[in-house]
Amino acid sequence: MATNPLLSPDEPEHEFEQSLRPITLDDFVGQPKVIKNLRVFIEAARKRGEALDHVLFSGPPGLGKTTLAYIVGNEMETNVQTTSGPVLEKPGDLAGMLTKLNEGDVLFIDEIHRLNPVVEEYLYSAMEDYCLDIVIDTGPNARSIQVELKPFTLIGATTRKGLLTAPLRARFSIDLRLDYYDAKLLKKIAVRTAGILDCPISEDGAIEIARRSRGTPRIVNKLLRRTRDFAQVDNKDTIDRATADEALNALDVDQNGLDEMDIRILSVLIQNYKGGPAGLGTLAVAVGEEKGTIEEVYEPFLIQEGFLQRTPKGRVATARAFEYLGITGSDTPDLFNS
Ligand code: ADP
Repeated sequence: MATNPLLSPDEPEHEFEQSLRPITLDDFVGQPKVIKNLRVFIEAARKRGEALDHVLFSGPPGLGKTTLAYIVGNEMETNVQTTSGPVLEKPGDLAGMLTKLNEGDVLFIDEIHRLNPVVEEYLYSAMEDYCLDIVIDTGPNARSIQVELKPFTLIGATTRKGLLTAPLRARFSIDLRLDYYDAKLLKKIAVRTAGILDCPISEDGAIEIARRSRGTPRIVNKLLRRTRDFAQVDNKDTIDRATADEALNALDVDQNGLDEMDIRILSVLIQNYKGGPAGLGTLAVAVGEEKGTIEEVYEPFLIQEGFLQRTPKGRVATARAFEYLGITGSDTPDLFNS
């Protein structure tokens, strides 16, 4: 999905991420509304001795959806089975996962907006009645058998809630949206991660990384890890502001945390389309990135920071974007050659 190396949890990063995941609701930094609601729902389900209702987490990548799914499993003292929308190709794949679940277990489906529609149909009865209607045999011998499932909790995560079908959305009775984190929270996460990695960080070093992490804990962790390399090479035993600054500049993360693609999107809009409006498809071709990735990964942050607007006619760069790139009116500096 996300092609930005800072946003996607690639293989070697996977273990690293696992090691940094908060385990309990108390460990989880930020998202107070989400945490408060989850606490109530978990406590109520535990008191009733029932499986937690199905939960949908939505929001941009790297904000903690997967982490929360594991935390729910941990707080409910149940197992978590993990899969993702595109992996469940056939109804049999889903049936295989569901029939393995014990009472109260969590099935976590990441990228649930990418479920095959046929598989999704099967999920409806599984979620609603804890049963699966499976058709066996074909032709005149075809018949359906019902497989009873143990009560379970489905946790879905999506970066594109708008792409979920109405029937699927309706079956999640707990629907929680994660927002970007402010710099204060990200600093806390940076300090926490530095502690786990056993790499000392100064106050201003943590602030610098937090400020330039696109509101995203995953980016804090990745930048911190890379910054640690710079500190080691420079023989510094503490990450300070200067080291952080050096590392982040080398990684093409600018003063506000915008990366190369963010800048490219804004500058194409401004230089090629006079600030817009430009359609998403046109913009995607011009910057060489997938439409979906622009929509899910880049735009939400650029919109939140006031650099970009979505209008019915297309994407428009704001006055702040012009100012940020140092472009006024007829100026057209060639940003790509710099
Ligand atoms: P998502 O599933 O939303 O893409 P993840 O749950 O995989 O995001 O989180 C990415 C990384 O960021 C993980 O390593 C996790 O430890 C860290 N992280 C996310 N949210 C928090 C948080 N609130 N506090 C501390 N670390 C976090």
